[in-house]
Amino acid sequence: MSEKPETLRVLIAGAGIAGLATAVALARVSTLPNLDVQLYEQAPELLEIGASIALSPNGMRTLEKMGVHNALTDENGFRGPSGIPQIFRHWKTNQVISVDTHRKVPDPRHHTTRFHRGHLHSALLEHVPRESIHLGKKILHAEAHENGVSLHFEDGSTAQGDILIGADGLKSKVRQSFIPEYKLRFSGKVYMRSTFDAALVEGKIPNLPADSMHWWGPNDNFFASRLGKGQYTTVGAFSDPRSSEEIEKSVAWDQKGDVNFLRERCKNWNPIVKALTEVTPYTNLYPNFAGDALKTWVFKSRVTLVGDAAHAHGGAFAAGGSLALDDAFALALAFRHVRLNRASLTPGAITRALYLYEKTRQPHTDRLLRIVHGQIDSKPAGPPGSVEEEDESLINRIRGRPDTEWLSEHDVEAAFAAVAEAPYRKQALASSAGGGQQDTVVTGIKLQPSKL
Ligand SMILES: Cc1cc2nc3c(=O)[nH]c(=O)nc-3n(C[C@H](O)[C@H](O)[C@H](O)COP(=O)(O)OP(=O)(O)OC[C@H]3O[C@@H](n4cnc5c(N)ncnc54)[C@H](O)[C@@H]3O)c2cc1C
Repeated sequence: MSEKPETLRVLIAGAGIAGLATAVALARVSTLPNLDVQLYEQAPELLEIGASIALSPNGMRTLEKMGVHNALTDENGFRGPSGIPQIFRHWKTNQVISVDTHRKVPDPRHHTTRFHRGHLHSALLEHVPRESIHLGKKILHAEAHENGVSLHFEDGSTAQGDILIGADGLKSKVRQSFIPEYKLRFSGKVYMRSTFDAALVEGKIPNLPADSMHWWGPNDNFFASRLGKGQYTTVGAFSDPRSSEEIEKSVAWDQKGDVNFLRERCKNWNPIVKALTEVTPYTNLYPNFAGDALKTWVFKSRVTLVGDAAHAHGGAFAAGGSLALDDAFALALAFRHVRLNRASLTPGAITRALYLYEKTRQPHTDRLLRIVHGQIDSKPAGPPGSVEEEDESLINRIRGRPDTEWLSEHDVEAAFAAVAEAPYRKQALASSAGGGQQDTVVTGIKLQPSKL
Protein backbone atom coordinates (compact mmCIF):
# COMPACT_ATOMS: atom_id res chain seq x y z
CA MET A 1 0.00 0.00 0.00
CA SER A 2 1.35 3.46 -0.81
CA GLU A 3 2.17 5.83 2.05
CA LYS A 4 -0.57 8.50 2.38
CA PRO A 5 1.01 11.95 2.23
CA GLU A 6 0.25 14.15 5.22
CA THR A 7 -1.12 17.63 4.73
CA LEU A 8 1.54 20.34 4.85
CA ARG A 9 0.07 23.45 6.48
CA VAL A 10 1.80 26.55 5.11
CA LEU A 11 1.17 29.96 6.67
CA ILE A 12 2.06 32.97 4.51
CA ALA A 13 2.32 36.30 6.32
CA GLY A 14 1.21 39.08 3.95
CA ALA A 15 -0.75 38.97 0.70
CA GLY A 16 1.34 41.47 -1.29
CA ILE A 17 3.27 40.59 -4.45
CA ALA A 18 5.62 38.13 -2.67
CA GLY A 19 2.88 36.46 -0.62
CA LEU A 20 0.54 35.89 -3.57
CA ALA A 21 3.40 34.74 -5.81
CA THR A 22 4.52 32.27 -3.14
CA ALA A 23 1.01 30.83 -2.91
CA VAL A 24 0.88 30.46 -6.71
CA ALA A 25 4.36 28.95 -6.98
CA LEU A 26 3.81 26.42 -4.19
CA ALA A 27 0.52 25.31 -5.75
CA ARG A 28 1.79 25.13 -9.33
CA VAL A 29 5.51 24.34 -9.17
CA SER A 30 6.40 22.60 -5.92
CA THR A 31 4.57 19.31 -6.66
CA LEU A 32 3.86 19.09 -2.92
CA PRO A 33 0.85 16.89 -2.34
CA ASN A 34 -1.86 17.84 0.16
CA LEU A 35 -0.86 21.43 0.52
CA ASP A 36 -2.89 23.69 2.76
CA VAL A 37 -1.80 27.30 2.14
CA GLN A 38 -3.34 30.16 4.14
CA LEU A 39 -2.43 33.83 3.72
CA TYR A 40 -2.81 36.44 6.48
CA GLU A 41 -3.01 40.08 5.42
CA GLN A 42 -3.35 43.16 7.63
CA ALA A 43 -5.35 45.18 5.08
CA PRO A 44 -9.10 44.93 5.63
CA GLU A 45 -9.68 44.95 1.87
CA LEU A 46 -7.51 44.16 -1.16
CA LEU A 47 -7.73 47.52 -2.93
CA GLU A 48 -5.72 48.65 -5.94
CA ILE A 49 -3.28 50.66 -3.86
CA GLY A 50 0.28 51.79 -4.49
CA ALA A 51 1.61 53.51 -7.56
CA SER A 52 3.74 52.20 -10.38
CA ILE A 53 5.91 49.10 -10.23
CA ALA A 54 8.33 47.79 -12.83
CA LEU A 55 9.16 44.19 -13.60
CA SER A 56 12.37 43.43 -15.45
CA PRO A 57 12.88 40.39 -17.73
CA ASN A 58 13.64 38.05 -14.82
CA GLY A 59 10.30 38.86 -13.19
CA MET A 60 8.37 38.66 -16.46
CA ARG A 61 9.86 35.25 -17.28
CA THR A 62 9.07 33.99 -13.81
CA LEU A 63 5.45 35.13 -14.08
CA GLU A 64 5.19 33.14 -17.30
CA LYS A 65 6.80 30.05 -15.76
CA MET A 66 4.28 30.24 -12.93
CA GLY A 67 1.41 30.38 -15.43
CA VAL A 68 0.42 33.97 -14.59
CA HIS A 69 -0.09 34.75 -18.29
CA ASN A 70 -2.73 37.39 -17.61
CA ALA A 71 0.01 39.68 -16.24
CA LEU A 72 2.01 39.54 -19.46
CA THR A 73 -0.57 41.12 -21.74
CA ASP A 74 -0.05 44.52 -23.38
CA GLU A 75 -3.25 45.63 -21.72
CA ASN A 76 -2.05 45.00 -18.19
CA GLY A 77 1.47 46.45 -18.40
CA PHE A 78 3.35 48.96 -20.56
CA ARG A 79 6.48 48.20 -22.60
CA GLY A 80 7.98 51.17 -24.41
CA PRO A 81 7.92 51.09 -28.24
CA SER A 82 11.73 51.38 -28.54
CA GLY A 83 12.40 48.18 -26.60
CA ILE A 84 14.87 50.17 -24.46
CA PRO A 85 14.11 49.48 -20.80
CA GLN A 86 15.44 52.71 -19.35
CA ILE A 87 16.43 56.02 -20.96
CA PHE A 88 18.38 58.56 -18.91
CA ARG A 89 18.05 62.23 -19.77
CA HIS A 90 19.55 65.48 -18.54
CA TRP A 91 17.21 67.40 -16.26
CA LYS A 92 17.70 70.75 -17.96
CA THR A 93 18.57 70.04 -21.59
CA ASN A 94 16.43 66.90 -21.95
CA GLN A 95 19.36 65.39 -23.83
CA VAL A 96 19.63 61.56 -23.76
CA ILE A 97 22.79 60.81 -21.77
CA SER A 98 22.65 57.03 -21.55
CA VAL A 99 20.38 54.01 -21.91
CA ASP A 100 20.04 50.56 -20.38
CA THR A 101 19.61 47.75 -22.89
CA HIS A 102 18.13 44.29 -22.90
CA ARG A 103 20.90 41.85 -23.73
CA LYS A 104 19.37 38.38 -23.95
CA VAL A 105 15.63 38.98 -24.05
CA PRO A 106 14.34 37.68 -27.39
CA ASP A 107 10.66 37.65 -26.42
CA PRO A 108 9.27 41.22 -26.33
CA ARG A 109 6.72 40.14 -23.71
CA HIS A 110 9.65 39.73 -21.31
CA HIS A 111 10.93 43.27 -21.83
CA THR A 112 10.82 45.54 -18.80
CA THR A 113 7.14 46.22 -18.12
CA ARG A 114 5.52 48.91 -16.00
CA PHE A 115 2.31 48.32 -14.13
CA HIS A 116 0.09 50.04 -11.68
CA ARG A 117 1.00 47.96 -8.61
CA GLY A 118 -2.69 47.26 -8.07
CA HIS A 119 -3.01 45.74 -11.56
CA LEU A 120 -0.06 43.40 -11.03
CA HIS A 121 -1.46 42.47 -7.64
CA SER A 122 -4.89 41.77 -9.16
CA ALA A 123 -3.34 39.61 -11.90
CA LEU A 124 -1.73 37.41 -9.24
CA LEU A 125 -4.87 37.42 -7.15
CA GLU A 126 -6.78 35.71 -9.97
CA HIS A 127 -4.64 32.62 -9.30
CA VAL A 128 -5.19 32.43 -5.55
CA PRO A 129 -8.49 31.25 -4.07
CA ARG A 130 -10.05 34.09 -2.08
CA GLU A 131 -11.04 31.78 0.76
CA SER A 132 -7.34 31.14 1.51
CA ILE A 133 -6.73 34.88 2.13
CA HIS A 134 -7.64 36.14 5.59
CA LEU A 135 -8.01 39.92 5.65
CA GLY A 136 -7.79 42.29 8.60
CA LYS A 137 -5.22 39.98 10.21
CA LYS A 138 -2.46 42.24 11.46
CA ILE A 139 0.42 40.08 12.66
CA LEU A 140 2.03 41.16 15.90
CA HIS A 141 4.35 38.25 16.45
CA ALA A 142 5.43 34.88 15.00
CA GLU A 143 6.74 31.81 16.80
CA ALA A 144 8.26 28.47 15.84
CA HIS A 145 8.50 25.43 18.05
CA GLU A 146 9.39 21.76 17.70
CA ASN A 147 6.09 20.76 16.14
CA GLY A 148 5.04 23.79 14.20
CA VAL A 149 4.68 27.54 13.79
CA SER A 150 2.16 30.10 14.96
CA LEU A 151 1.11 33.63 14.08
CA HIS A 152 -0.40 35.96 16.67
CA PHE A 153 -2.75 38.69 15.42
CA GLU A 154 -3.76 42.07 16.76
CA ASP A 155 -7.39 40.88 17.10
CA GLY A 156 -6.24 38.29 19.67
CA SER A 157 -6.56 35.26 17.37
CA THR A 158 -3.77 32.90 16.32
CA ALA A 159 -3.04 30.58 13.38
CA GLN A 160 -1.05 27.34 13.52
CA GLY A 161 0.87 25.60 10.75
CA ASP A 162 3.84 23.44 9.85
CA ILE A 163 5.90 26.09 8.10
CA LEU A 164 5.78 29.86 7.97
CA ILE A 165 6.77 32.14 5.11
CA GLY A 166 7.18 35.79 6.02
CA ALA A 167 6.04 37.86 3.01
CA ASP A 168 5.10 40.85 5.12
CA GLY A 169 7.27 43.42 3.41
CA LEU A 170 9.88 45.92 4.43
CA LYS A 171 8.82 46.17 8.08
CA SER A 172 8.23 42.44 8.46
CA LYS A 173 6.94 41.30 11.84
CA VAL A 174 8.02 37.75 11.03
CA ARG A 175 11.61 38.91 10.50
CA GLN A 176 11.40 41.04 13.66
CA SER A 177 10.18 38.04 15.68
CA PHE A 178 13.32 36.07 14.85
CA ILE A 179 15.81 38.97 14.61
CA PRO A 180 14.50 41.51 17.17
CA GLU A 181 17.57 43.73 16.82
CA TYR A 182 17.10 44.23 13.06
CA LYS A 183 16.91 47.91 12.05
CA LEU A 184 16.12 49.74 8.85
CA ARG A 185 17.93 52.92 7.82
CA PHE A 186 16.57 55.85 5.84
CA SER A 187 18.32 56.07 2.46
CA GLY A 188 18.09 59.86 2.35
CA LYS A 189 15.50 59.85 -0.45
CA VAL A 190 11.77 60.39 -0.38
CA TYR A 191 9.75 59.39 -3.45
CA MET A 192 6.66 61.35 -4.48
CA ARG A 193 4.54 59.04 -6.60
CA SER A 194 1.37 59.54 -8.54
CA THR A 195 -0.64 57.42 -11.00
CA PHE A 196 -3.45 58.93 -13.03
CA ASP A 197 -5.43 58.64 -16.25
CA ALA A 198 -3.06 58.92 -19.24
CA ALA A 199 -5.68 61.15 -20.90
CA LEU A 200 -4.26 63.96 -18.73
CA VAL A 201 -1.01 63.89 -20.72
CA GLU A 202 -1.83 62.37 -24.13
CA GLY A 203 -1.71 65.05 -26.83
CA LYS A 204 -1.32 67.75 -24.15
CA ILE A 205 2.45 67.89 -23.64
CA PRO A 206 4.50 68.73 -26.74
CA ASN A 207 7.30 66.22 -27.48
CA LEU A 208 6.32 63.92 -24.64
CA PRO A 209 8.42 60.78 -25.27
CA ALA A 210 6.52 57.55 -25.89
CA ASP A 211 8.98 55.53 -23.80
CA SER A 212 9.49 55.59 -20.06
CA MET A 213 11.96 58.34 -19.10
CA HIS A 214 14.30 58.97 -16.24
CA TRP A 215 15.59 62.54 -15.91
CA TRP A 216 18.52 63.02 -13.55
CA GLY A 217 19.31 66.32 -11.87
CA PRO A 218 22.23 67.24 -9.62
CA ASN A 219 20.30 66.09 -6.50
CA ASP A 220 16.83 65.03 -7.55
CA ASN A 221 15.46 62.60 -10.15
CA PHE A 222 12.18 62.52 -12.02
CA PHE A 223 10.62 59.47 -13.69
CA ALA A 224 7.59 59.33 -15.97
CA SER A 225 5.96 56.48 -17.82
CA ARG A 226 2.79 55.15 -19.32
CA LEU A 227 1.46 52.11 -17.44
CA GLY A 228 -1.00 49.40 -18.43
CA LYS A 229 -4.76 49.99 -18.59
CA GLY A 230 -4.47 53.61 -19.75
CA GLN A 231 -2.65 54.85 -16.65
CA TYR A 232 0.32 57.20 -16.37
CA THR A 233 2.82 57.68 -13.55
CA THR A 234 5.17 60.39 -12.38
CA VAL A 235 7.73 59.89 -9.62
CA GLY A 236 9.97 62.56 -8.11
CA ALA A 237 12.86 61.37 -5.93
CA PHE A 238 14.14 64.03 -3.56
CA SER A 239 17.00 64.14 -1.09
CA ASP A 240 15.86 64.70 2.47
CA PRO A 241 18.47 65.46 5.12
CA ARG A 242 16.38 64.19 8.06
CA SER A 243 17.50 61.25 10.18
CA SER A 244 15.86 57.81 10.11
CA GLU A 245 14.15 58.57 13.44
CA GLU A 246 12.76 61.91 12.28
CA ILE A 247 11.47 60.45 9.00
CA GLU A 248 9.96 57.48 10.83
CA LYS A 249 8.06 59.88 13.10
CA SER A 250 6.93 62.36 10.47
CA VAL A 251 6.36 60.59 7.12
CA ALA A 252 4.18 57.50 6.86
CA TRP A 253 4.44 55.15 3.86
CA ASP A 254 1.84 56.11 1.23
CA GLN A 255 0.99 59.36 3.07
CA LYS A 256 -0.53 62.20 1.01
CA GLY A 257 2.13 64.67 -0.13
CA ASP A 258 1.92 68.23 -1.43
CA VAL A 259 1.98 68.27 -5.23
CA ASN A 260 3.07 71.91 -5.13
CA PHE A 261 6.33 70.80 -3.55
CA LEU A 262 6.98 68.63 -6.63
CA ARG A 263 6.09 71.53 -8.96
CA GLU A 264 8.27 73.98 -7.06
CA ARG A 265 11.20 71.57 -6.96
CA CYS A 266 11.05 71.03 -10.76
CA LYS A 267 10.18 74.57 -11.81
CA ASN A 268 13.54 75.12 -13.53
CA TRP A 269 13.66 71.72 -15.23
CA ASN A 270 13.07 71.20 -18.96
CA PRO A 271 9.56 72.04 -20.29
CA ILE A 272 8.44 68.39 -20.51
CA VAL A 273 9.17 67.66 -16.84
CA LYS A 274 7.67 70.98 -15.83
CA ALA A 275 4.48 70.23 -17.78
CA LEU A 276 4.32 66.73 -16.28
CA THR A 277 4.49 68.12 -12.75
CA GLU A 278 1.70 70.56 -13.63
CA VAL A 279 -0.69 67.81 -14.81
CA THR A 280 0.21 65.50 -11.89
CA PRO A 281 -2.95 65.70 -9.78
CA TYR A 282 -1.61 64.52 -6.41
CA THR A 283 1.42 62.82 -4.87
CA ASN A 284 1.86 60.19 -2.21
CA LEU A 285 5.05 59.98 -0.18
CA TYR A 286 7.28 56.92 0.04
CA PRO A 287 10.32 57.43 2.27
CA ASN A 288 12.98 55.00 1.18
CA PHE A 289 14.37 52.59 3.79
CA ALA A 290 16.93 49.82 3.44
CA GLY A 291 18.30 47.19 5.82
CA ASP A 292 21.41 45.06 6.16
CA ALA A 293 21.72 41.63 4.60
CA LEU A 294 20.47 38.91 6.93
CA LYS A 295 22.88 36.29 8.29
CA THR A 296 20.36 33.56 7.55
CA TRP A 297 16.96 33.26 5.87
CA VAL A 298 15.99 30.13 7.81
CA PHE A 299 14.70 30.26 11.38
CA LYS A 300 14.08 27.25 13.63
CA SER A 301 14.12 24.99 10.53
CA ARG A 302 10.49 25.96 9.76
CA VAL A 303 10.41 29.63 8.89
CA THR A 304 11.75 31.62 5.97
CA LEU A 305 11.23 35.01 4.33
CA VAL A 306 10.44 36.15 0.78
CA GLY A 307 10.36 39.57 -0.92
CA ASP A 308 11.18 42.78 0.92
CA ALA A 309 11.04 40.94 4.25
CA ALA A 310 14.10 38.91 3.18
CA HIS A 311 16.04 41.74 1.51
CA ALA A 312 15.20 45.31 2.45
CA HIS A 313 16.89 46.90 -0.56
CA GLY A 314 14.83 50.08 -0.54
CA GLY A 315 13.40 49.60 -4.02
CA ALA A 316 16.81 50.12 -5.64
CA PHE A 317 16.89 49.65 -9.42
CA ALA A 318 13.11 49.03 -9.30
CA ALA A 319 14.00 45.41 -8.59
CA GLY A 320 11.61 44.66 -5.69
CA GLY A 321 8.73 43.14 -7.63
CA SER A 322 10.94 40.91 -9.76
CA LEU A 323 13.01 39.79 -6.79
CA ALA A 324 9.83 38.86 -4.91
CA LEU A 325 8.65 36.73 -7.85
CA ASP A 326 12.01 35.00 -8.16
CA ASP A 327 12.07 34.32 -4.40
CA ALA A 328 8.66 32.66 -4.61
CA PHE A 329 9.68 30.57 -7.59
CA ALA A 330 13.00 29.49 -6.03
CA LEU A 331 11.24 28.41 -2.85
CA ALA A 332 8.81 26.27 -4.84
CA LEU A 333 11.70 24.77 -6.86
CA ALA A 334 13.43 23.86 -3.60
CA PHE A 335 10.35 22.02 -2.31
CA ARG A 336 9.94 20.33 -5.67
CA HIS A 337 13.54 19.14 -5.52
CA VAL A 338 13.38 17.60 -2.04
CA ARG A 339 9.96 16.15 -2.69
CA LEU A 340 10.91 14.18 -5.83
CA ASN A 341 10.15 10.48 -5.45
CA ARG A 342 8.98 10.83 -1.86
CA ALA A 343 5.42 10.32 -0.73
CA SER A 344 5.67 12.56 2.32
CA LEU A 345 7.83 15.45 3.28
CA THR A 346 9.94 14.71 6.36
CA PRO A 347 11.04 17.53 8.71
CA GLY A 348 14.59 16.97 7.41
CA ALA A 349 13.42 17.47 3.84
CA ILE A 350 11.62 20.70 4.79
CA THR A 351 14.78 22.05 6.37
CA ARG A 352 16.80 21.03 3.33
CA ALA A 353 14.33 22.80 1.03
CA LEU A 354 14.55 26.00 3.07
CA TYR A 355 18.36 25.97 2.96
CA LEU A 356 18.41 25.22 -0.78
CA TYR A 357 16.17 28.26 -1.21
CA GLU A 358 18.42 30.41 0.97
CA LYS A 359 21.55 29.31 -0.92
CA THR A 360 19.91 30.15 -4.24
CA ARG A 361 18.66 33.59 -3.32
CA GLN A 362 20.77 35.04 -0.54
CA PRO A 363 24.08 35.55 -2.44
CA HIS A 364 22.13 37.26 -5.22
CA THR A 365 20.29 39.74 -3.00
CA ASP A 366 23.36 40.25 -0.75
CA ARG A 367 25.17 41.52 -3.84
CA LEU A 368 22.39 44.04 -4.40
CA LEU A 369 22.40 45.11 -0.73
CA ARG A 370 26.16 45.79 -0.90
CA ILE A 371 25.54 48.19 -3.80
CA VAL A 372 22.58 49.82 -2.03
CA HIS A 373 24.48 50.47 1.21
CA GLY A 374 27.53 51.64 -0.75
CA GLN A 375 25.33 54.22 -2.44
CA ILE A 376 23.75 55.38 0.83
CA ASP A 377 27.20 55.65 2.46
CA SER A 378 28.78 57.49 -0.48
CA LYS A 379 29.85 60.96 0.50
CA PRO A 380 27.75 63.84 -0.84
CA ALA A 381 29.48 65.90 -3.50
CA GLY A 382 31.46 68.87 -2.20
CA PRO A 383 30.30 72.50 -2.53
CA PRO A 384 28.82 73.26 -5.96
CA GLY A 385 31.41 74.10 -8.61
CA SER A 386 30.77 75.93 -11.85
CA VAL A 387 27.70 74.96 -13.90
CA GLU A 388 30.02 73.16 -16.34
CA GLU A 389 31.72 71.20 -13.53
CA GLU A 390 28.39 70.19 -12.01
CA ASP A 391 27.14 69.10 -15.38
CA GLU A 392 30.21 67.06 -16.08
CA SER A 393 29.94 65.35 -12.73
CA LEU A 394 26.22 64.59 -13.32
CA ILE A 395 26.89 63.13 -16.75
CA ASN A 396 29.71 61.01 -15.33
CA ARG A 397 27.39 59.75 -12.60
CA ILE A 398 24.72 58.78 -15.11
CA ARG A 399 27.19 57.04 -17.39
CA GLY A 400 28.99 55.42 -14.46
CA ARG A 401 25.87 53.96 -12.83
CA PRO A 402 26.17 50.24 -12.00
CA ASP A 403 25.44 47.78 -14.79
CA THR A 404 22.53 45.72 -13.46
CA GLU A 405 22.12 43.10 -16.18
CA TRP A 406 23.04 40.45 -13.56
CA LEU A 407 19.92 41.58 -11.70
CA SER A 408 17.41 42.34 -14.45
CA GLU A 409 18.19 39.28 -16.58
CA HIS A 410 18.92 36.87 -13.74
CA ASP A 411 17.91 33.27 -14.44
CA VAL A 412 16.61 31.99 -11.12
CA GLU A 413 15.99 28.50 -12.46
CA ALA A 414 19.64 28.16 -13.56
CA ALA A 415 20.79 29.60 -10.22
CA PHE A 416 18.69 27.04 -8.39
CA ALA A 417 19.98 24.17 -10.56
CA ALA A 418 23.59 25.20 -9.83
CA VAL A 419 22.93 25.16 -6.07
CA ALA A 420 21.00 21.89 -6.14
CA GLU A 421 23.60 20.18 -8.30
CA ALA A 422 26.60 21.22 -6.22
CA PRO A 423 26.63 18.25 -3.78
CA TYR A 424 26.03 15.81 -6.61
CA ARG A 425 28.87 17.28 -8.61
CA LYS A 426 31.23 16.75 -5.64
CA GLN A 427 29.93 13.23 -5.22
CA ALA A 428 30.35 12.50 -8.92
CA LEU A 429 33.91 13.78 -8.90
CA ALA A 430 34.76 11.67 -5.85
CA SER A 431 33.32 8.52 -7.35
CA SER A 432 34.10 9.08 -11.03
CA ALA A 433 36.91 6.49 -11.00
CA GLY A 434 34.54 3.88 -9.58
CA GLY A 435 31.69 4.75 -12.00
CA GLY A 436 29.46 6.00 -9.13
CA GLN A 437 25.87 6.89 -10.03
CA GLN A 438 24.96 10.57 -10.17
CA ASP A 439 21.58 11.80 -9.01
CA THR A 440 19.89 14.12 -11.48
CA VAL A 441 18.52 17.59 -10.84
CA VAL A 442 15.22 18.12 -12.53
CA THR A 443 14.34 21.60 -13.64
CA GLY A 444 12.30 22.24 -16.85
CA ILE A 445 9.05 23.13 -15.10
CA LYS A 446 5.76 21.44 -15.89
CA LEU A 447 3.01 23.30 -14.09
CA GLN A 448 0.55 21.53 -11.86
CA PRO A 449 -3.07 22.62 -11.66
CA SER A 450 -3.54 24.77 -8.58
CA LYS A 451 -4.26 22.71 -5.46
CA LEU A 452 -4.94 25.62 -3.13
C1 LIG B 1 0.46 49.52 -0.20
C2 LIG B 1 1.75 49.30 -0.93
C3 LIG B 1 2.05 50.12 -2.00
C4 LIG B 1 3.24 49.93 -2.70
N1 LIG B 1 3.51 50.73 -3.76
C5 LIG B 1 4.63 50.55 -4.49
C6 LIG B 1 4.89 51.34 -5.63
O1 LIG B 1 4.12 52.21 -5.95
N2 LIG B 1 6.01 51.09 -6.33
C7 LIG B 1 6.90 50.13 -5.97
O2 LIG B 1 7.91 49.94 -6.66
N3 LIG B 1 6.69 49.37 -4.88
C8 LIG B 1 5.57 49.56 -4.13
N4 LIG B 1 5.35 48.78 -3.03
C9 LIG B 1 6.37 47.82 -2.63
C10 LIG B 1 6.44 46.65 -3.57
O3 LIG B 1 5.17 46.06 -3.70
C11 LIG B 1 7.43 45.67 -3.00
O4 LIG B 1 8.69 46.29 -2.88
C12 LIG B 1 7.70 44.45 -3.87
O5 LIG B 1 6.65 44.15 -4.73
C13 LIG B 1 7.97 43.24 -2.99
O6 LIG B 1 6.73 42.79 -2.48
P1 LIG B 1 6.48 42.23 -1.02
O7 LIG B 1 5.29 41.36 -1.16
O8 LIG B 1 7.73 41.69 -0.46
O9 LIG B 1 6.14 43.48 -0.17
P2 LIG B 1 4.80 44.33 -0.17
O10 LIG B 1 4.31 44.54 -1.54
O11 LIG B 1 5.10 45.50 0.68
O12 LIG B 1 3.72 43.38 0.56
C14 LIG B 1 3.75 43.08 1.93
C15 LIG B 1 2.34 42.71 2.33
O13 LIG B 1 2.36 42.32 3.70
C16 LIG B 1 1.33 43.01 4.40
N5 LIG B 1 1.77 43.20 5.78
C17 LIG B 1 2.76 44.00 6.24
N6 LIG B 1 2.85 43.92 7.57
C18 LIG B 1 1.89 43.06 7.98
C19 LIG B 1 1.47 42.59 9.24
N7 LIG B 1 2.04 43.00 10.37
N8 LIG B 1 0.44 41.71 9.30
C20 LIG B 1 -0.17 41.27 8.15
N9 LIG B 1 0.17 41.71 6.93
C21 LIG B 1 1.20 42.59 6.83
C22 LIG B 1 1.19 44.34 3.64
O14 LIG B 1 -0.07 44.93 3.88
C23 LIG B 1 1.37 43.87 2.21
O15 LIG B 1 0.18 43.42 1.62
C24 LIG B 1 4.16 48.92 -2.31
C25 LIG B 1 3.86 48.11 -1.22
C26 LIG B 1 2.63 48.27 -0.54
C27 LIG B 1 2.32 47.37 0.61
